[in-house]
Amino acid sequence: MDNCLFCKIVRKEIPSTIVYEDEEIVAFKDINPIAPVHILVIPKKHFDSIKDIKEEDISLIGRIHLVINKIAKEQGVAESGYRVVTNSGRDSGQEVMHLHFHIIGGKVLGNKICQ
Ligand code: AMP
Ligand code: ZN
Repeated sequence: MDNCLFCKIVRKEIPSTIVYEDEEIVAFKDINPIAPVHILVIPKKHFDSIKDIKEEDISLIGRIHLVINKIAKEQGVAESGYRVVTNSGRDSGQEVMHLHFHIIGGKVLGNKICQ
């Protein structure tokens, strides 16, 4: 997608702090972190959001969660705990229309996932 911000990060057209990359997945630090650990994990393939996931993408989406597991360990939050958030669509407040999984941790997050 030519004008997608996260596709531009995948193509290295705009800078980001990448913490993980393989042939299908990239993870980078959120530019506006809300916690000491705030990483975004994305498929390189463009999906607007979860709504675009199809049967053929199951293995990619599953593998993203293995990558989340690995990053959580590397970032030191696997034992203390962390939250994985995926906004999807208008009411969720999704700002960047390229599927992404927030890994948020490094502090006590409280028990509310919405306001
Ligand atoms: P969402 O509201 O779920 O769509 O989250 C979008 C996230 O992308 C926000 O947490 C932003 O801070 C983050 N973000 C926006 N632009 C960039 C960028 N250039 N590099 C890293 N993170 C970004
Ligand atoms: Zn994209």
